[in-house]
Amino acid sequence: MSNFGGFLIEANLIGGQWAAADSGKSIAVTNPATGQVIGHVPDSGADETHRAIAAASAAFKSWSKSDLSFRVGLLHKLHDAILDQQETLAALLTAEQGKPLAEARGEIAIGAAYIRWFAEEIRRAKGEIVPAPTGDRRLLVTHHPVGVVGAITPWNFPSSMLARKLGPALAAGCTVVAKPATATPYSGLAWGKLIQDVGFPDGVVNILTGSARAIGGAIMASPDVRKVTFTGSTEVGKTLIRQSADTVKKLSMELGGNAPFIVFDDADLDAAVEGAMIAKYRNMGQTCVCTNRFYVQAGIHDAFVERLKAATAALVVGNGAEPGVQQGPLIDDAAVEKVEAMITDAVAKGGQIVQGGRRHGNGGTFFEPTVITGATSAMQFATDEIFGPLSAIFKFSTEEEAIAAANATEYGLAAYAYTRDLGRAFRLNDGLEYGLIGINSGLITTVEAPFGGLKESGMGKEGGSQGLEDYLSTKYVCLAGLKA
Ligand code: NAP
Repeated sequence: MSNFGGFLIEANLIGGQWAAADSGKSIAVTNPATGQVIGHVPDSGADETHRAIAAASAAFKSWSKSDLSFRVGLLHKLHDAILDQQETLAALLTAEQGKPLAEARGEIAIGAAYIRWFAEEIRRAKGEIVPAPTGDRRLLVTHHPVGVVGAITPWNFPSSMLARKLGPALAAGCTVVAKPATATPYSGLAWGKLIQDVGFPDGVVNILTGSARAIGGAIMASPDVRKVTFTGSTEVGKTLIRQSADTVKKLSMELGGNAPFIVFDDADLDAAVEGAMIAKYRNMGQTCVCTNRFYVQAGIHDAFVERLKAATAALVVGNGAEPGVQQGPLIDDAAVEKVEAMITDAVAKGGQIVQGGRRHGNGGTFFEPTVITGATSAMQFATDEIFGPLSAIFKFSTEEEAIAAANATEYGLAAYAYTRDLGRAFRLNDGLEYGLIGINSGLITTVEAPFGGLKESGMGKEGGSQGLEDYLSTKYVCLAGLKA
C-alpha cells in the first residue's frame, strides 16, 4: 500500500504533535474507485478537540503579534512546498475522493494559489484615518486577527476548501482548528505535514478527524473559538448557525447550491456546450457550483440537447487515477441512490432519458453520465441539489420566464448564462439572485474574485479582497485632547 510519499498520515495534529485518538479507535478510509481501504484515521471526539483549541489559543498569543513579513514568508514557502508535491498530493486526492487526476492536479494548484493570494492580500489590509468632527481628535480604524478559527470542510474539494480557509486565517494572524470530512481526511491532514515542514510554529494549525458531532459540537460551544468557517451542506450549516448563537461567533458559511444554466437562442452553441460540460460534469457533478438545472430557449433547444447528449455519451468513465478518464465514481452509495431516485421521479413525471440513466457497468459507485429532457418544476431536481452526473433540461420561451425560474429556489450560489446580447448580460446581472454569475463561461472560480452565495447558500466570501475581511476584527480608536 502506498503511503503517498509520507503524506498518508493517520494521526491528528495537535499542538505540533501527531497523535492517535484518545480511545485508540480509528476510521477506515476507502478509495471510491476500487472500494479498497487506503488507511485509517483517528476517531476523535470532544476531548481531543478541547486540547486542539487550547493549543490554538496558546499559539494565538505570539502568532497574532508576529511580524507580518514572517507570516507572509511562511505562506510563500507553503505555496512553493505544495506545488513541489503537486503530483503526490493529486494522487492522494484522487485515491480518497475519486476525481480524475487532471482535476486533482488543478485542485492542488488552486489551493496553492489561494495561499499565495492571501499572502499578498494581507499586505494591503489597510486601516483608515477618518476625518474627525473636531480639531482635537484623530479617529483611527484598525484591523486585528479575529482569534482562534474553527474550520470544517467537505469531501468534494478536500484540499482547496481548506486552503481557502487556511490562507486568510494564517495571513491575518489567526490560529486554526480544522476538521476535514471523514470520507476524505488525508488531503486535509497533508496540509498539516506541509505546514510543519515549512516551519509554522506549533499549535498555529491543528487538524482533527473523527465524529463530526463531537468535534463540531466542541468547536461551536467553545468561547475561545471566535470564528467558524464552514463549507458543506445547507442543512449542517443551519445547525452550526444555531449552535453559534450561545457564544456569538463570527461565521462564514459556504453552503449548497442549485445552479441554473441558461442558454438563450442567440448563444454561441459551441461555447455553450463546452461550458455546459464543465459546469455540469466537473468532479462527476459533485461541486456546489455544478449546474443543477439547464434552461434552454425553444429556438436552440433541440440543437443544444443533441450536442450535449453527444458530448455526455463521449465522456470516459473509470478510475480517476488512469490516464484519459474524465468521470470517476461518485463518493458513496447514498450519492448514487440520490441520483437514481431523481431519475425515477423525473421519468414518472414525464421526463425523457436521452442519454445514460443507469449505474455504470464498472460497478461500485460509477454512474452513467445522464441527460434528461422535458424537465418541469414539479421534478425533484428542480428544487434539490443533484450532486451527480445528471443533466436536467427545461425548455423556456422568454427571458423573464427564465430569470423567474432560475430564481425559484432557496439557494443562490452560482448561475450561468450564454447570450451574445450585452444588454441582456446586464439584465441577468441585475435579475439573477446569485452570488456568482458566469456569462458565457462555465468555470468562473478564481482566487482574485469573491466566492460566496446569497440566500440559503450562505454568508461571507472566500477569495478576493473580501475573503480576508471575515478573519479580521475592526476596531475604532478615538485619540482625543490633541489640541496644544
Ligand atoms: P456535509 O455533510 O454538510 O459535511 C461537511 C462537513 O461538515 C464535513 O466535515 C462533515 O463531517 C461536517 N459535519 C457534518 N455534520 C456536522 C455537525 N453536526 N457538526 C459539525 N460538523 C458536521 O457536506 P458534504 O456532503 O461533505 O459536502 C457537500 C455539500 O457541500 C454540498 O451541499 C455542497 O453544495 C456543499 N459545498 C459548498 C461549497 C461552497 O463553497 N458553497 C463548496 C463545496 C461544497 P463528516 O464528514 O464527518 O460527516
